[in-house]
Amino acid sequence: MKVFKFGGASVKDAAAVKNIATILHNNAPKQLVIVVSAMGKTTNALEKVLQAWFSNDEALQQHINEVITYHHQIISELFPDKNNPVYFKTDLLFGELEGHLCTPPSPNFDFEYDQVVSFGELISTTIVGEYLIMQGFNCQWFDVRGLIRTDDTWRDANINWSVTSQQVNNLLVPFLENDGKEPHIALTQGFIGASEAGHTTTLGREGSDYTAAILSHVLNAAEMTVWKDVPGVLNADPKYFENTTLINHISYREAIELTYYGASVIHPKTIKPLQNKSIPLRVRSFISPSAPGTTINATTSEDDAIPGIILKSNQVLLSFSPKDFSFIAEDNLSQIFSALAECGIRVNMMQVSAITFSICMDENERKMDKLTALLGEKFAYRYNNGLQLITIRHYDQVTINRILNGRQLLVEQRSRQTAQFVVKAQV
Ligand code: ASP
Ligand code: MG
Repeated sequence: MKVFKFGGASVKDAAAVKNIATILHNNAPKQLVIVVSAMGKTTNALEKVLQAWFSNDEALQQHINEVITYHHQIISELFPDKNNPVYFKTDLLFGELEGHLCTPPSPNFDFEYDQVVSFGELISTTIVGEYLIMQGFNCQWFDVRGLIRTDDTWRDANINWSVTSQQVNNLLVPFLENDGKEPHIALTQGFIGASEAGHTTTLGREGSDYTAAILSHVLNAAEMTVWKDVPGVLNADPKYFENTTLINHISYREAIELTYYGASVIHPKTIKPLQNKSIPLRVRSFISPSAPGTTINATTSEDDAIPGIILKSNQVLLSFSPKDFSFIAEDNLSQIFSALAECGIRVNMMQVSAITFSICMDENERKMDKLTALLGEKFAYRYNNGLQLITIRHYDQVTINRILNGRQLLVEQRSRQTAQFVVKAQV
């Protein structure tokens, strides 16, 4: 039994959906679970819908229409037969979405976010499912809200593993039990779940990888594959760096480190559920499906083979010094850290000297104002924004020189495996 995850780019238009069928023809095992994201940039588009709804913006209907038209285009290219059930199934979903949006929102933005944005995955899986059925696959659509149970932390829901496991065993497993003749494909949505009260929840942006890992864990999958528009895990993001190299193999541990420092190739929560059951994760290209891609498993032997470069943009460097000229010692540090925790600030890098404590954090004016209000009485502070944080794992001097070349350096920090540099963003 394997789990495949197809992200937004792999279902962004009719040709992409057709390509999934080709990949399945060549790669589907006898028992397969497919997790699919919203099509293309639909989640962003639905976020715009939500903003317009909350701000009573008259562009609301136009934003809704954009989402519907985009999907209609894909549907009409994939299904020439207008009697195909996909037409009434998706119309039902569009109607439900519009119905939800025609009354004023409840005051809880995060709750409404989950109710609205989740339509992206419900629509995409309906289209992909009907297409696979039309292509002759034994494919069944599952509503993931009947499988994945979460708490009600809207937009960042936590998994209830025991209920999830029970539901998956009751619903998915009997379907996957296979007489051996042809692949049985269970198709479901990434990114979403349901609370005990039955409300839709979401697992955080880019959370479909995590959904696939949860199902892999519960089902004891032999392997999980994420199909992407890149050849696998690269040693740097080609959007920002030239001369990237494909990493054939890394360990779970290294993958966790890379995602921790900001590598966006897989969702950070994906690795743990797989590691705990020793399920290999493969990252493969849907453009070149026969290429091996990257394998992530427990073996650490190749982790330091290639320096890995991770760039985090929109960073701010914030420095505090005690106004009474006391040293930065435990009492000051504990005050600073509790203020950071209270503001929900994640520290991406920190540095302590005798009289200053500096942190690098994601730009967020609201959180920064709160932090400086909490600490301003006791500490003087300075900040610098428009920065980037570059992390190099398994660094060597040649790589550091190549990456820093011409960049203005503000802070640098090195440990045995990891070098970090706060630099001015290049314009
Ligand atoms: N559609 C969601 C997002 O764009 C989840 C995902 O793609 O993984 O964040
Ligand atoms: Mg995605």
